[in-house]
Amino acid sequence: MQVSAYYADTYEAQAQTRVAAIGERDGAPWVAVEHCLFHPQGGGQPADRGWVDGHEITPVRDHDSGLVVAMACSGDTLPELSLGQPVEVRIDLPLRTAHAALHTAGHLIEAAGRAQGWVLAANNHFPGQARIEFTAPTPDARLDTPEGREEATEALRVEVAEAIAQDWPVTWENDAEGRRIVHLSDLHSAPCGGTHVRSLGDLADVVLPTLKVKKGRIRVSYSAAHREKS
Ligand SMILES: [Zn+2]
Repeated sequence: MQVSAYYADTYEAQAQTRVAAIGERDGAPWVAVEHCLFHPQGGGQPADRGWVDGHEITPVRDHDSGLVVAMACSGDTLPELSLGQPVEVRIDLPLRTAHAALHTAGHLIEAAGRAQGWVLAANNHFPGQARIEFTAPTPDARLDTPEGREEATEALRVEVAEAIAQDWPVTWENDAEGRRIVHLSDLHSAPCGGTHVRSLGDLADVVLPTLKVKKGRIRVSYSAAHREKS
């Protein structure tokens, strides 16, 4: 009844669809559409900016129904809608691709950190605060000095730059339990409900400042953008 269209195509910006459900949440109305372009906040990735029939909405995961529901943004209201009614849905595509680039770069940095022998501890793919945190199961002496931390960061940068230069494909499949597994070629596989670029060559301006170590966590901050279309 609702298809998460952003799984199949990160770049689909607009569609004609129908109202799949309507309801209320904390006294505010929501609408769920069949062909859902709207990625809700989750998995460390911010929500899309979207519109239903020209009304700006914020998508939210409704845990009661399991649906992604669209709620009016402050300053806007939802149109009057009924079940089955045709509607036009649209997302802010440059914002979507910016989020997808940050999110995909996060996977890539996770892979690069794992190649250093580290284990993922936390991630955040929000613009301006994107970071991947690791722990080192075996003590990593490089992390004890500023020079060593820069050396370790440079190793990550080299790994990341190499993967982007190779333009490795980003693909996904559903496993036997129905989980969506995302692959960065052979570098990385993880269950993930986020949005991703098509291949790592879509990433641009991936910048990793020297990593920090805080409370036993290796914190790798980063920024990334989507490559401009040529
Ligand atoms: Zn992902």
